[in-house]
Amino acid sequence: MESIYIVKVGGAIVEDERRLGRLLRDFAALPGRKVLVHGGGRSATRLAQRLGMESRMVNGRRITDEAMLQVAAMVYGGLVNKRLVARLQAEGVNAMGLTGADGNVVRARRRPVTADGTDFGFVGDVEQVDVRLLSTLLEAGVTPVMAPLTHDGRGQLLNTNADTIASETAKALAHRYDVTLLYCFEQPGVMRRPDDESSLIPVITAADFERLVADGTISGGMIPKLENALQAVAAGVRQVIVTRADAIDGRHGTVVKA
Ligand code: ADP
Repeated sequence: MESIYIVKVGGAIVEDERRLGRLLRDFAALPGRKVLVHGGGRSATRLAQRLGMESRMVNGRRITDEAMLQVAAMVYGGLVNKRLVARLQAEGVNAMGLTGADGNVVRARRRPVTADGTDFGFVGDVEQVDVRLLSTLLEAGVTPVMAPLTHDGRGQLLNTNADTIASETAKALAHRYDVTLLYCFEQPGVMRRPDDESSLIPVITAADFERLVADGTISGGMIPKLENALQAVAAGVRQVIVTRADAIDGRHGTVVKA
């Protein structure tokens, strides 16, 4: 099978000019076919603040109401996505930006209200990745750049976690390609102590993950990230690595194993 890289880049990197430049150069240098999936970071929240909108929080969680969805679509699907595409073009990568609605690439279901009554608003849980357009683009030498937005098939855009889009896309493409999925963020990988560079955990299994969540070593955004990573491994993605954005050669970071 032909190999392919799927690189997910976190919001903090997208917003850091120097680190983003480095990442895009390294991404351009990866051999063969590839896909970039990006998060949004705080840019949508910042624009919402400039527009005088209040971020709605319920039980400590941010709610994507109609107004916030409009801003997320403009910022993630617009400026952030198109800037990445333009910069990849400058690196010699023929990139093309997509939300999940474009080409029906990622369909999702609006998240149901939780048992404790939290309604996240226009947030999507991925149901299906349609690889037909992605494969056509990849075969034509075009590099898809995927924004963290999906659609429900009935006309509704949904704000969607980029880590999940990356893992679901990796799973869907694993039927046709030998997939390496790289989660890039600002730390060297999964750490025993976040402030100690030497405490990198080189390999993590599902059993390690349970233990490290239970003892508090792994917390916050790293929990859903690793859940996504473990699901991808279980579904046949050949290699999943959580790594620093300046080390996307696949030789650094934390390797996620079943
Ligand atoms: P992204 O930058 O890809 O959007 P998230 O912010 O969702 O990523 O999740 C990554 C964050 O998880 C890190 O920035 C860090 O603050 C946190 N984290 C929690 N536990 C760990 C750990 N053990 N090792 C590394 N990061 C961790």
